[in-house]
Amino acid sequence: MENRIYNFAAGPSMLADEVLKGLHEELLNYKGSGMSVMEMSHRSKGYLEIFNDTKDTLRRVMNIPEEYEIFFMHGGATGQFAAIPMNLMKNGKADYVVTGNFAKKAAEEASKYGEVNIAYDGKDNGYAHIPEQSELKLSEDASYVHVCANNTIFGTEWKKFPETNGIPLVADMSSDILSRKINVSDFAVIYAGAQKNMGIAGLAVVIIRKDLIGEHDPKTPQILAYDVTAKNDSMLNTPSTYSIYVLGKVVKWLEDLGGIEEIERRNIAKAKLLYDYLDSQSFYKPHAEKESRSMMNVTFTTPDPEMDALFAKKATENGMSNLKGHRLVGGIRASIYNAMPIEGVEKLVEFMKEFAKENG
Ligand code: PMP
Repeated sequence: MENRIYNFAAGPSMLADEVLKGLHEELLNYKGSGMSVMEMSHRSKGYLEIFNDTKDTLRRVMNIPEEYEIFFMHGGATGQFAAIPMNLMKNGKADYVVTGNFAKKAAEEASKYGEVNIAYDGKDNGYAHIPEQSELKLSEDASYVHVCANNTIFGTEWKKFPETNGIPLVADMSSDILSRKINVSDFAVIYAGAQKNMGIAGLAVVIIRKDLIGEHDPKTPQILAYDVTAKNDSMLNTPSTYSIYVLGKVVKWLEDLGGIEEIERRNIAKAKLLYDYLDSQSFYKPHAEKESRSMMNVTFTTPDPEMDALFAKKATENGMSNLKGHRLVGGIRASIYNAMPIEGVEKLVEFMKEFAKENG
């Protein structure tokens, strides 16, 4: 594991060294099978063990109740932007809380399938704010309420999810799943693309309350229909076999290090280090409002865009990559997902201090 760089990418992003080593060890010959997991039939006994073990471990680690089904689907989180309305917009209407770019995309996609009520839109504050309950204009007859738990681009995160008075709450947790304790029973559906805290690209994980799996819009592609997915145990066609196997390794790593409780403790410590430094100085400007700050994506700017670019370039030369902010907002973004060790954040803060001294 020499010459590893601290990779601050927003996704695909870092994997823990232990996970990579495990994958490496089993790459050519999985447990004496004479083949790689990549070469296994998804219907084989050996692969089904991996598949079921991954599901069981995820269920334990997230404490997912029996009333919930776990799906492994295709099409990333973006596929779910369409799957959610096609399967769940039963009365032709849904509420969307727009706290960032992906929340907006989800709402736009849903509007093809029915009436979308924008219960809140943060564009006027540059998506730096997560709304309070009193700021939401929820409708009484929505089929569901959709939120994006963590806004990857703007660096904001829900601390307390909205109260929906019995209306199913659907959450895109692509960039904060497995990072902190949540109560799965508070949600009707949780979905996430795997390429941040769940491993590698090519897999969408959907956690859904069983009573919501039912009829879908007749035009729904089979591959996005929840009842079809349930009936076939996520194997209507060939699933993303290797991505599911990697997810299994990631959740086992999490379980062995002490589960969500321990990783949350580490994530709080990492984010605190960075935010405490940001609050102690005036060279860098944090983007998100204090109460809305994300523990996973820390966004800030230097005094001007040219200096932002210089910052990212110099950081790369110093062993810290992908700190350039998203093209929509510019600035700097440090994504510090579960696999980022605290040493990476310490190194970043030291670098920030030096850079501010040289350029301030
Ligand atoms: N939602 C969020 C919060 C994201 O961060 C992303 C990807 N960065 C997406 C949705 C889109 O995910 P995918 O690329 O898996 O479709």
